[in-house]
Amino acid sequence: MKASQFFISTLKEAPADAEIASHKLMMRAGMIKRLGAGLYNYMPMGLRVIRKVEGIIRAEMNRAGAVELLMPVVQPAELWQETGRFEKMGPELLRVKDRHGRDFIIQPTSEEVITDIARQELRSYKQLPKNFYHIQTKFRDERRPRFGVMRGREFTMKDAYSFDRDVEAAGRSYENMYQAYCRIFERMGLQYRAVAADTGAIGGDRSHEFQVIAETGEDAIIYSPEGTYAANIELAEALPLLAERAAAAQALTKTPTPGKSTCADVAELLKLPLTQTVKSLVLAADETNEAGEIIKTQVWLLLVRGDHDLNEVKAGKVEGLKGGFRFATVSEIEQHFGCKPGYLGPIGLKRDGEGSVKVVADRTVARMADFVCGANEVDAHYTGANWGRDLPEPDVVADIRNVVAGDPSPDGKGTLAIQRGIEVGHVFYLGTKYSAAMNATYLDENGKPQLMEMGCYGIGVTRILGAAIEQNHDERGIIWPDAIAPFTVVVCPIGMDRSEEVKTAAHKLYQDLLDLGVDVLLDDRGERPGAMFADWELIGVPHRVVISDRGLKEGQVEYQGRRDAAATKLALADVVPHLQ
Ligand code: ATP
Ligand code: MG
Ligand code: MG
Ligand code: MG
Repeated sequence: MKASQFFISTLKEAPADAEIASHKLMMRAGMIKRLGAGLYNYMPMGLRVIRKVEGIIRAEMNRAGAVELLMPVVQPAELWQETGRFEKMGPELLRVKDRHGRDFIIQPTSEEVITDIARQELRSYKQLPKNFYHIQTKFRDERRPRFGVMRGREFTMKDAYSFDRDVEAAGRSYENMYQAYCRIFERMGLQYRAVAADTGAIGGDRSHEFQVIAETGEDAIIYSPEGTYAANIELAEALPLLAERAAAAQALTKTPTPGKSTCADVAELLKLPLTQTVKSLVLAADETNEAGEIIKTQVWLLLVRGDHDLNEVKAGKVEGLKGGFRFATVSEIEQHFGCKPGYLGPIGLKRDGEGSVKVVADRTVARMADFVCGANEVDAHYTGANWGRDLPEPDVVADIRNVVAGDPSPDGKGTLAIQRGIEVGHVFYLGTKYSAAMNATYLDENGKPQLMEMGCYGIGVTRILGAAIEQNHDERGIIWPDAIAPFTVVVCPIGMDRSEEVKTAAHKLYQDLLDLGVDVLLDDRGERPGAMFADWELIGVPHRVVISDRGLKEGQVEYQGRRDAAATKLALADVVPHLQ
């Protein structure tokens, strides 16, 4: 590619709404262009990176025996009604109507459609195992789209779905994908960690997230530096919490306080089956008198299923609870404590020595010693914790550290540490959740129908760009790992318009590299050297070759790797072997 034909558009300053390095640099390098909240145009330079990321994913998925297909972005609601997700999924699911008033959704993921395909096409045990995948546009109406492509509303995901005849075979499919993911992220040159993750409503122990290590990551990972233990902190903390909760619930009377709402009331109103495996927690507040004045702020702890969207817990929805209680929305609670919007995810509470309660969290479930304010038991909802109204905003990381860092590692090797990560991939054993809901069966050797065992496996294609930059940048710009760089090599001729020698040498080198299949760009724009170098350092091309009259006189060019402090002289004849 020649720069004069390509489209290059760099900026000196990042727009004010860009908070983190990757978002700033992608905007400045002209990789993306904002269209609306969480909506981006992928500009030519950015799209090249996306295509490389997709290429690696595709190659490794195919190598692992997965089969590519493509499912529509717009999907009929009927399938989503079969699994109940049309109603159950929160506002993150974008629902639309066509001209006939029929309901559709814009896919946030594709379990329903692939299960529909499988129940029609996979009829015999002889066709199993199968793993289908696609790389397709997704839409999630994220409450807080931010950080550019990192948390977009429209984004690209690779999602794969495995179908197996039994649990054992599904385990092999899972392991196969786990290994493929390791190869994918290694090939991309990312520093990542596979961590055990919450399995939410499905239960079991087979769910792993692939986390790219970065300070700006939204997730916290707890791991053993000396051992092999690694988990998303949500999980690490939810497990002991759940055990404690269960024990506490056992120890307490199961008779609800008269006049207070029960878990069953709450469950009914929130449409939550509270007997299911639970994940996070949300809290309810405010006891009011007849006149509607708040007389006491009370806290109820609800353990909420993993797939339940907390934003659905709207005050209006739960009015009418007995005992004058009212549920607060997460944003009301944020306002109440003067936190920044979006600060509180699922909220945890912690009691300090004096018995007052402190809000901790940021997607964290705190370990709450003997703080019993709610239990996940039908008809037994315990209340009784008061808190002050003048709490300072907590230091999230410090609070997380209080909770678990330094604890002995569960694998017996050393103590636990915490680091932050960006979730770029997720592998998940689904069991028969979808096949049972949609009656996806195959016929076994005896001609008997059996439910298919499923797994799902996602990779955030566009998020990977942000994650890679968070790990690889300096004050001058992006430093792409070779495998996903928009161009691998840039040839920068100086004074090409004045010097035939420079022009000839630059074109020849460009052509030689092209012939070898090297992804090379010739910067023939005629920019000043300073501006030209600044552009390519910002854009992050990993290898640069500068050709000038002065160098050519000695048969030399200048080579500089993007991480090198200075250029080195290379004989013109050595450039091609050097870059191969
Ligand atoms: P998160 O916890 O960040 O919201 P998720 O757990 O909801 O992600 P999954 O349903 O596991 O996401 O989807 C698979 C992958 O898709 C994620 O691992 C992530 O890389 C990517 N992804 C999810 N949401 C977004 C988004 N809003 N923007 C870009 N990529 C996303
Ligand atoms: Mg999400
Ligand atoms: Mg997640
Ligand atoms: Mg996930």
